[in-house]
Amino acid sequence: ARWTAEDGWTGGEVVPFGPLTLSPAAAVFHYAQEIFEGLKAFRHADGSVWTFRPEKNAERMQRSARRLALPELPTEDFLASLTAQVAADEPWVPAAGGEDSLYIRPFMFASESFLGVRAAQQVDYYVITSPAGAYFPRGVQPLVVWVSDTYARAGAGGTGDAKCGGNYASSLLGKKEAAEHGADEVLFLDSETHTTIDELSGMNVMAITNDGRILTPELTGSILEGVTRDSILQLARDRGLEPGEQKMSMDWVTDRIAGGEIVEMFACGTAAVINPIGEFRSPKGSWTVGDGGSGEITLSLREELTGIQTGTVEDRHGWLHRLA
Ligand code: PMP
Repeated sequence: ARWTAEDGWTGGEVVPFGPLTLSPAAAVFHYAQEIFEGLKAFRHADGSVWTFRPEKNAERMQRSARRLALPELPTEDFLASLTAQVAADEPWVPAAGGEDSLYIRPFMFASESFLGVRAAQQVDYYVITSPAGAYFPRGVQPLVVWVSDTYARAGAGGTGDAKCGGNYASSLLGKKEAAEHGADEVLFLDSETHTTIDELSGMNVMAITNDGRILTPELTGSILEGVTRDSILQLARDRGLEPGEQKMSMDWVTDRIAGGEIVEMFACGTAAVINPIGEFRSPKGSWTVGDGGSGEITLSLREELTGIQTGTVEDRHGWLHRLA
């Protein structure tokens, strides 16, 4: 679909996957006026195809659009675009029974051709899909996480909590640095003081304490409001864990890992759903979380959430949305 300042949103059809034709002066190439979303479609045992809480992604895309001076796509149009694209790509939705899925990537960018710095008057919106196998084909593997004290990902007041390409461009060097230290992932701290935990490059972070609490950094404007994060806080509440959204300094967390008060930690997001964190590394030292393996509550929350998504556990919160 295309939006212009003059006509609003028009078009919206399914076309074969192929290259786009864009002007070299398209604003997106120069000023990164671009946003995106990520969801998954799962096939259930009866052959039907479902996605998970897509209204949350629609609302997040509207918030991202406002921050990037892009037009808002109404929720019903967002949902219709997912339905149309997944109907066309249905043969690619894997068979039921595993965690395999079809990844869905909606995105919107400034396609107007001009060189001045201002909000574009022409914007394009697309949805593409890609088959995604199970995230852990050989069983759940705990992450080694590098704590970046040099690079931040996004700042509050900047594009902080928007899901825009620029926030990922700023994360790539931190990810590279993590790999150089033998880590799987990078943990970003706040951009002002480099002391409090924000998130990983593509996942939110949670900690479970030995007195039955589940802690996660509060949303201060630089952390992506994850759909998985919100869902896990709800499932945790359902089973009597007390959720705490709070500022968490890295020193506070490593003290509690060392002291045994924090017993499990994990990262969460659409792709992995839940990925245990086994170890943190930083220029100051390294810390093994629990026994370095996958925690019991972490795995049990993961099983419940993937069960809801794949249709084997009751969807008691009405989170599933049928696509085909
Ligand atoms: N933080 C970042 C930076 C992400 O890219 C993602 C993935 N969208 C998340 C957190 C988790 O969000 P969600 O649970 O909605 O996938």
